[in-house]
Amino acid sequence: MTSYLRYLPSIHKLKAHRRFSEIAETAQVSEEVLTNWITEQVQEVRIQMVNDGLQMEDINREKLVDYIFLLLERKLRGNKENQLRPVINATGVVLHTNLGRARLSRQAIDQITEIALSYSTLEYNLKTGERGSRQSIIENYIKQLTGAEAAIVVNNNAAAVFLVLKALAFGKEVIVSRGELVEIGGSFRISSIMEESQAILVDVGTTNKTHLHDYENAITENTAMLLKVHKSNFKIFGFTEEVDTDELVRVSRYYHIPIYEDLGSGTLFDFQEKKIGAEPTVQDKVQAGIDIISFSGDKLLGGPQAGVIIGKKKYIDQLKKHQLARVLRVDKFTLAGLEATLKSYIRNQEQKEVPTIRDIVTPSETILKKANVFLQKLTSEDTTFICDIEKESSRVGGGTMPEVALETYVVHVKHDTLSSDEIARRLRNYTIPVVVRVKNDSVILDFRTVTEDELEKVVEAFLHIQPQ
Ligand SMILES: *Cc1c(COP(=O)(O)O)cnc(C)c1O
Repeated sequence: MTSYLRYLPSIHKLKAHRRFSEIAETAQVSEEVLTNWITEQVQEVRIQMVNDGLQMEDINREKLVDYIFLLLERKLRGNKENQLRPVINATGVVLHTNLGRARLSRQAIDQITEIALSYSTLEYNLKTGERGSRQSIIENYIKQLTGAEAAIVVNNNAAAVFLVLKALAFGKEVIVSRGELVEIGGSFRISSIMEESQAILVDVGTTNKTHLHDYENAITENTAMLLKVHKSNFKIFGFTEEVDTDELVRVSRYYHIPIYEDLGSGTLFDFQEKKIGAEPTVQDKVQAGIDIISFSGDKLLGGPQAGVIIGKKKYIDQLKKHQLARVLRVDKFTLAGLEATLKSYIRNQEQKEVPTIRDIVTPSETILKKANVFLQKLTSEDTTFICDIEKESSRVGGGTMPEVALETYVVHVKHDTLSSDEIARRLRNYTIPVVVRVKNDSVILDFRTVTEDELEKVVEAFLHIQPQ
């Protein structure tokens, strides 16, 4: 194959070619970029030749030129699309980690757009005309909603855990139950964060049982805090015991050692009242007397990615003053989105406005209606898909409420000639990618996470991908 290398055209020749000027005219990229790309493609073909990987019969100069231009055009087409694209989540998993967790409310998006298009009061006090603090923007909302004395927002909850440990427990001991040394999907481990922050981990109890005296016996002069980590992404069943919050708070008061709880998801909405799961609310935790609490902005709260830290003013003030707070600070888009999200809660409209809450509490009958609409729309067209509706369950996702199965109705879709994996692949590659579940050789659509507008698009996608 290497003998054909001599047929490879020079960049100079390619650029002088009629096709190059045609492409350059419509491409909307500079000639410089186009030259770089065609050089890349020639390199690619050279490598294919050297590795005997070029699938081409009777190689000649002309065929190679055609092939290189074909590759260039393909590259151009690929470049038109953004790499970060919207997809339709038809899995029913509300907080799908790989699909960007919480989708934002209309209010949050409008507020982000407005702030992004203008200058803003990010660090500007309108009353005094002087410098203001970005942290104060949403602190009041959070205090109002949770009853906490103070709050600070950082990049994400992992950053929140890091900041708390670094600022309040550097070089000192932190006592945590062995049953709570969790790893959260995608490389977040409490023990590693602890090591990174140079706090000293003192693990007590066993995987399944930790008693109050385990904590008490571990307290020394060098103890900086008691840490509780919410086991948000797993559940141990059977012979287990953990110390309840009230008891632990009592110990922390007695020994004058602060108690910090990493809540993980952290919900302001009482799902238990809706008979969904057993997730404690953030407000409950503040009431119980936990000194410092942190939780994610884009899990059950349903806002943008952020880490919210709340608690006693004397601790939060220490966090605000720490150098790391500057390193981990959030940008104006996060603050804008978070402000609008929190305002939905303040107006008591979260069930309507915040998609995460709305989708979790949606009753199965509403989803059944959507499934029926889909079925009617698809079967009223000339379709070769075979569909039926079945009772199933959806997951909250995002490592949140793992034990909860939300009652739902799903549409099973099959096809005579397309395998379920092939249907799923085609749907993923549609103009608006549709992500589905595949189970027992049928594609499963759960419309819990699909809006009415999106439902139309899913129908379109199916009609488009079926063999003609
Ligand atoms: C999700 C989670 C984190 C990490 O939060 P991010 O916002 O993803 O950084 C930390 N601790 C617990 C218990 C969690 O569930």
